[in-house]
Amino acid sequence: MRETRRTILKTIGGIAGTGAISSQTSAKKAMRLPATKPEMQWAPADESNYNEAERESDLDIRWFVVHVAQAEADWTVNWFQNPNANASTHYVADHRTGDLTQMLAESDIGWHAENWPYNQHSLGIEHSGWVNETEYTDILYEVSAKIVRWAATEFDFPKRVRRYDIAPCDATDGEGGVIGHDQIPNPNDCTKPGGISGHYDPGSLWNWGRYEGFIRRWDVESDENAVVLSNGAVHHGPDEHARIMDIPAGAVGTATGNVLVRGGTQWYKLDFDGTSGSVPADDVLYARFDVGASVATTSGLSVRAEPDGERLVVVPEGTTGTIAGGPVDTTGYRWWKVEYESGDTGWSAGYWLTSN
Ligand SMILES: [Zn+2]
Repeated sequence: MRETRRTILKTIGGIAGTGAISSQTSAKKAMRLPATKPEMQWAPADESNYNEAERESDLDIRWFVVHVAQAEADWTVNWFQNPNANASTHYVADHRTGDLTQMLAESDIGWHAENWPYNQHSLGIEHSGWVNETEYTDILYEVSAKIVRWAATEFDFPKRVRRYDIAPCDATDGEGGVIGHDQIPNPNDCTKPGGISGHYDPGSLWNWGRYEGFIRRWDVESDENAVVLSNGAVHHGPDEHARIMDIPAGAVGTATGNVLVRGGTQWYKLDFDGTSGSVPADDVLYARFDVGASVATTSGLSVRAEPDGERLVVVPEGTTGTIAGGPVDTTGYRWWKVEYESGDTGWSAGYWLTSN
């Protein structure tokens, strides 16, 4: 399992890093909600309900597929343990208690999307409840979002909710991210949604904006520099109807730590030289570095030949380096070329870099 590899990486990082680097890194990390895997009980699905695989090495996990079970959590867990089910997801979340159950290793392929390539390239989660009946609470959104936060870091997919009507025909197109079962294309006709039998979960009562708020809640930290991506994105208040401020795309603000979800959108309050304004989350990118700046990784981090290109190596958490180029904004991330102390040079996603 990847856990072991991650633990080894952390151990190597601890040994290789100097004490000064380690303590600086942990002080910075304290501001960021760590992307640790939430606690789950383990209840393995019946082995006839999924494919054993080695996905960390063979297949690229890039989608996180949200389902609603049309059942209670206990019933759902029992069903995936029944050899007649021919179905499984990696996780089951109880909408009443927030309890999480893991049923498949992330490396294995669940049967939930009703589209084989999407199964191959995704993790699936069932939430107990009923489509268009259950009022989901923050208890559920928060525990589910915690898995997304962890999995996106672990498997290197964008921590973004995708608002496709229908996700790309080819599961390996597009950037990946979080989607509903109702966005999975029909494998026989990808102009039709909901997998092969037209599923429409999670349904209209699933609040994607609220869920995204929990997924991205701490993405811009207090005192971190953030870049405005669009003209007209900065408002006087956290409301799309609020007056627009004359702050152009590319302006750099300082996050105040004030984050609000309004109208299904997450808003950050940024300070621009003493004037503060509110920006929707989709219009903000994270820390900006100058070439030559010293940085450290806040997680085990991929080093790629090009922005979002071939992975050359994964450097451990706490690896320091120097910014050698960038930024390049693509695939939902801001990419920086980094010369790492380990001798590796390549492109890394800025979200997991911090000033050192
Ligand atoms: Zn479903």
